[in-house]
Amino acid sequence: QYLDAIENSNRELNAYITVTPEVALAQAKKVDEKIAAGEEIGMLEGIPMTLKDNISTKGIDTTCASKILTGYKPIYDATVYELLQKEGVVMLGKTNMDEFAMGSSCETSYYGGAKNPHSLDHVSGGSSGGVASAVGGNLAVYGLGSDTGGSIRQPASFCGIVGLKPTYGAVSRFGLIAYASSFDQIGPITHDVEDAAIVFDAIAKYDERDSTSQGSEPTLPTLKDDIKGKKIGIANQYLDGVREDVKQAVFDAAKAYEEMGAEIVYFDFPELKFALPCYYILAMAEASSNLGRYDGIRYGYKAEHYNGTHDMICRTRSEGFGKEVQRRILMGTYVLSAGYYDAYYKKAVNLRGAIVEAFDRAFELCDVILAPTAPVTAFKNGYLFSEETDQLEAYLSDICTVPVNAAGLPGVSIPCGVDDEGLPIGMQLIGKKFDEKTILNLAYRYE
Ligand code: GLN
Repeated sequence: QYLDAIENSNRELNAYITVTPEVALAQAKKVDEKIAAGEEIGMLEGIPMTLKDNISTKGIDTTCASKILTGYKPIYDATVYELLQKEGVVMLGKTNMDEFAMGSSCETSYYGGAKNPHSLDHVSGGSSGGVASAVGGNLAVYGLGSDTGGSIRQPASFCGIVGLKPTYGAVSRFGLIAYASSFDQIGPITHDVEDAAIVFDAIAKYDERDSTSQGSEPTLPTLKDDIKGKKIGIANQYLDGVREDVKQAVFDAAKAYEEMGAEIVYFDFPELKFALPCYYILAMAEASSNLGRYDGIRYGYKAEHYNGTHDMICRTRSEGFGKEVQRRILMGTYVLSAGYYDAYYKKAVNLRGAIVEAFDRAFELCDVILAPTAPVTAFKNGYLFSEETDQLEAYLSDICTVPVNAAGLPGVSIPCGVDDEGLPIGMQLIGKKFDEKTILNLAYRYE
């Protein structure tokens, strides 16, 4: 059924870059055989899902939605996919994204952007826009995305579904193609909070192949607990520049929590304004280093005509990387270069420390922080890259999501309303490190 749905709707939604019917049907057949033999099956067994196209799959195209990875087939599976295969999942294919996960609308994809299932005139968000479009459009039950600065939470909020960005280190990054390694984290995009908890529990395992991996506690046992007495913090600075109806939806949610017996605490978070410049400087610096491996020799695309090795590498990169990726490599190289390192990179590292400390102080006052996921609802197609839109302004739309990544904290986005055009509004619950269980519990109770 899901393969048929993809056949019928993927042309419109552009959610999938690669569909893998052979893989899906073979995996499904195994589950069928188990059922026929009267064996018990697990919670994720036989459930059709998808992976963002920056998660490595052995022998299956993994493009990062970039021309430079054309034809690249990894020789190993990412840990998350290995873990899910052990659970007996059915993998439908690889989903669209902003090129190398750089963007907020899925439109930097070499394959064109994925569309919002609520309105084809609007984007599904980014960078994990394909997963959100597929799940929101019922072309998969759930999917795994990656979140470096909001790429799981923001598309989930634009598509009216649930997205969990785990604590840095909770889920192994082995096999995730790196964008900014000290921020990147894989997590689930699902229809509801319970699904997010089930998938998170399956993938949040220690992995010796990722030196930052620790795993995390299971979240399902406490998912439905009472939330009486829980303290929910709201920082005014998280609401600065947020559209009125989005703000209102978040306040309405706070009221609903109060009615359930939670306490709302207001606090100040002046350091929040540093999160965006800090994120963009550090993420671009790390990206410029991570993307150095694409040189036309080791992976995917290679320029056809060139004159010597240096020219080959130049042409491969000029032709293979899109405009946004090139912009970030250039800026990242700039902030790391001698003379600018102290002025930009080092300053951003220090600011990151200040943000971490500010969150620590906030969590002395509350158990979780409630904030909008994005200042607005889904953008119109083409808006972020139109002539009128200043690129700096486009980066500003990540203001609510990046602080979590800078501090390595978990955050879950859940739907909390719709705007005048019927587009979903999302809010996020942010927790202490490795405290996914509390944010998911509160998210479940609101839902
Ligand atoms: N929108 C942010 C960016 O462009 C976040 C991307 C991400 O989380 N991968 O960098």
